[in-house]
Amino acid sequence: MKTITRTDERILSADIFERDAKVPRQDWGTVREAERQIPVYRDCEVLVVGGGPSGTAAAAAAARTGADTVLLERYNHLGGLSTGGLVIWIDRMTDWKGELVIRGIAEELLDRLPAGAVAGPDRADWGSTEAAKAAHWSLRTAAYHGIVTWSPTVDPERLKLLSQELLIERGVKLVYHSWACVPLMDEGRVAGAVFESKEGRMAVRARVVVDATGDGDLFARAGAAFENDIEEADVHHCMNTSWMFAGVDMGRWLAFRAGQPEAYNDFMARGRAACGLFDRPFVSWRDDVALFMGPRQTGYSALDVDDLTAVEVRSHRAMAAHLDFYRAHAPGFENAYLMVSAPQVGVRHARRLRGVDAVLRRRWPEGTPLPTEIGVTPAVSPKFPNISIPYGALVPEALDGLLACGRHISCDKNSHGFMREIPQCWITGQAAGTAAALAVRAGVQPRDVDVAALQAALLEQGVYLRPTAPVAFEPVAAAG
Ligand SMILES: Cc1cc2nc3c(=O)[nH]c(=O)nc-3n(C[C@H](O)[C@H](O)[C@H](O)COP(=O)(O)OP(=O)(O)OC[C@H]3O[C@@H](n4cnc5c(N)ncnc54)[C@H](O)[C@@H]3O)c2cc1C
Repeated sequence: MKTITRTDERILSADIFERDAKVPRQDWGTVREAERQIPVYRDCEVLVVGGGPSGTAAAAAAARTGADTVLLERYNHLGGLSTGGLVIWIDRMTDWKGELVIRGIAEELLDRLPAGAVAGPDRADWGSTEAAKAAHWSLRTAAYHGIVTWSPTVDPERLKLLSQELLIERGVKLVYHSWACVPLMDEGRVAGAVFESKEGRMAVRARVVVDATGDGDLFARAGAAFENDIEEADVHHCMNTSWMFAGVDMGRWLAFRAGQPEAYNDFMARGRAACGLFDRPFVSWRDDVALFMGPRQTGYSALDVDDLTAVEVRSHRAMAAHLDFYRAHAPGFENAYLMVSAPQVGVRHARRLRGVDAVLRRRWPEGTPLPTEIGVTPAVSPKFPNISIPYGALVPEALDGLLACGRHISCDKNSHGFMREIPQCWITGQAAGTAAALAVRAGVQPRDVDVAALQAALLEQGVYLRPTAPVAFEPVAAAG
């Protein structure tokens, strides 16, 4: 086990656990797949593949910008890791001064969640440096560096439902239980996708495809350049399956953790000795539900089925061991019971697109809006100003017909630490969906979209932007 300490590059201190030894796979040879004709399920203007935070935002924005939009999702819900992965702690949407800079669809979703489905500090306290408030919220994942932030926890079922209703309201054709396997190609550019479902193999033809798979499945298979480095000493490259315990008293647990630091450290040391992989709980949207988003396991690849299986097996065993240990030794956990383990494995990083531009560590100190800014992200520490996200981070270096959004956009390793967070995925999704629809409307490739028109459309949708040369946007009625 290694302990990673918090720095100006990282928001969290965390323990990470090395992988089990890999059993090499035997070479069983190959078989030939017969060529065949497959039915076209549908034609559309914008096809979004993947219904995580980025794909949901992309589809909602594409439809709102007037495109006939289809979304393919391999599971039975929207929200991706933010719901099915039980990553219910939405990272910081305010900057270090307390200003809400993650807006647009992100803000709309949080505003529309029903009362009781979202927990976090009051708006009046965002940016507060009052010691008592910061101490209270730092235990509840909503204050860092002594500053209260808007980084709430949410009810995953409510977020699934709301994301789904938002897309249906906007006229998006939703297709669940459908796994996109290969891109359709036409003269070297992406022209749709082939997917597998209980009906077998079918195709969707599209003018523009938005790859929101998180793992870059579509752009990688279409031949776009990408990075897939695994940094074994970094939290951002760890995997694990999250879970929740119910029947707990988080108030008592937090009082123990904050009030008895020596007893807490002793508890953690005994837990590691007893369980091996061991982690602490996070708060959720309810005081009787505890969230475990670890133990973080390093050295595994999210692109290897044996590694994915090994992470699931270890995580489920760790969940059972945690329940026994916490029930026996943790104040507030005496009556805890297993509520749910995540249906989606927690992958922080698989591939990152190589784009025409990127979010780069060397630009963090600059603080100036880039001319192609399509979103703004808070920096990882108050030492840095807000960071500008360029349109080119969504556009492949050479591949046409496709845009990327979410945790696999073009950025360097350091910037990936925050660009993969849920708020930033909503932002890049909204920009990708809007740009895809504008490309269709103008009859151009995504790389040739008029960025000033894109910025105007995003501003019209309530996105926080600092455009250098805004132009008027002419809305079109959303597709029916
Ligand atoms: C354990 C863990 C803890 C984290 N902690 C936080 C945190 O505290 N706060 C925070 O803000 N962020 C956190 N993150 C990061 C965040 O959850 C993700 O990076 C974010 O959800 C990524 O959004 P996305 O839309 O890019 O991809 P995903 O959420 O991964 O969604 C991708 C979707 O695409 C679907 N899909 C994939 N491939 C295909 C295919 N071929 N065909 C059809 N559908 C497909 C998937 O089923 C999924 O629904 C954490 C991540 C992990 C793993």
